Amino acid sequence: MDISFTDQELAFRDEVRTFFAEEIPSALRAKLERGIEIGKQDQVDYQKLLFRQGYFAPNWPKEYGGPGWTTIQKYIYASEMAAAEAPQIIPFGVNMVGPVIYSFGSEEQKKRFLPDILESNVWWCQGYSEPGSGSDLASLKTRADLEGDHYLINGTKTWTTLGQYADWIFVLARTNTEVARRQEGISFILIDMSTAGISVKPIITLDGAHEVNEVHFENVRVPLENLVGDEGKGWTYGKVLLQHERTNLTGVAHSKVRLARLRKQAGEAIRGAEPLRSDRNFMRRLGAIDVELKALEITDLRTLAAVASGKAPGPESSILKIKGTEVAQMIDALEMEAAGYYALPYVPAQYQVNFDDAARIGYKNETLTSLRYFNNRKASIYGGSNEIQKNIVAKHVLGL
Ligand SMILES: Cc1cc2nc3c(=O)[nH]c(=O)nc-3n(C[C@H](O)[C@H](O)[C@H](O)COP(=O)(O)OP(=O)(O)OC[C@H]3O[C@@H](n4cnc5c(N)ncnc54)[C@H](O)[C@@H]3O)c2cc1C
Repeated sequence: MDISFTDQELAFRDEVRTFFAEEIPSALRAKLERGIEIGKQDQVDYQKLLFRQGYFAPNWPKEYGGPGWTTIQKYIYASEMAAAEAPQIIPFGVNMVGPVIYSFGSEEQKKRFLPDILESNVWWCQGYSEPGSGSDLASLKTRADLEGDHYLINGTKTWTTLGQYADWIFVLARTNTEVARRQEGISFILIDMSTAGISVKPIITLDGAHEVNEVHFENVRVPLENLVGDEGKGWTYGKVLLQHERTNLTGVAHSKVRLARLRKQAGEAIRGAEPLRSDRNFMRRLGAIDVELKALEITDLRTLAAVASGKAPGPESSILKIKGTEVAQMIDALEMEAAGYYALPYVPAQYQVNFDDAARIGYKNETLTSLRYFNNRKASIYGGSNEIQKNIVAKHVLGL
């Protein structure tokens, strides 16, 4: 899509572009290029760098520390960040619990938690899913029983992304079982991960990575003041959070960068072979993804504009989540095809060798292809599976 920018917007674009070109530490850049995992400290340092620049919380209202950017500025920022292939922001604090706290939390909670989220002093994780309660989240069984001035928490959360690093977790827990609708008995509670009775157990995924965890709560005492909003309203608050999460999962800017790279690659005669451009089937698929991506981009901008005018992203965010992840996975598949034999299955020990070989002949990106392909299968599951998003669209957008 072609958007014509004003002089001010162009100046802003140049400022953001320069920042990402010059300020990302070279050690971090080298890790990114080699596909080496970015640890907690690297991520925190990077987020602090964004914060100091005023780039960390584009969607927050100004009164809570947001930059007060227009929709176009947010679009420019996301595009430049993706074009620079800068690391993603970890969303659990700034894009998830932060908006819930400034929308529904008490004044004390805003003062206590928001500054540390902005400055990445505290790492948050998300405690929604449970063994047996994923898509049907309202069936969750973790209990929060009120005992005087505190809740006693018992239960298990699962798939908790990067919970091994977390200082705090936000959970949906059942505070009442005597309700007409299961959703009414659920509350939104903030828990310090260092509280006695919490244990974190890693779930090692097929690629050998430690990205997700199980978090167990055994008689964990949590002060009543850590309840956000009203008891029993957690489902409503949690839904707002999920809509923010889904809106943030579109990944348009990132997909555009990847598609442009594929198009460029298709025009090159790599290793003496015919350029992929002469493969009509490949080019037809590339064009089809491009069309989907453009439609997604316009829908995304419409949602951003609605959010900028103070609305929470509604159930339409489910459309963004489905399309954004479908497009990303289509690009994953096309990249695999373009890389051919160079997209070897991800075998960590072999990976480094393969990377160095590929780097020598100048195709270092290809070796990340299979890693990205397999890892990104998760995208149509987390944030609520795409099948469930289709149910939401059918019911709440189409009214079926
Ligand atoms: C990598 C990764 C990271 C995650 N991180 C977090 C996290 O940090 N915090 C957190 O709380 N959760 C997290 N999740 C959990 C995620 O939200 C759940 O996996 C997701 O909601 C699906 O739930 P489930 O795994 O229990 O699958 P199930 O609910 O058992 O679903 C299994 C399959 O059945 C389909 N299905 C189920 N019900 C229906 C229906 N009514 N109609 C049509 N199809 C249906 C689903 O689409 C899916 O394909 C993560 C998941 C992954 C994979």
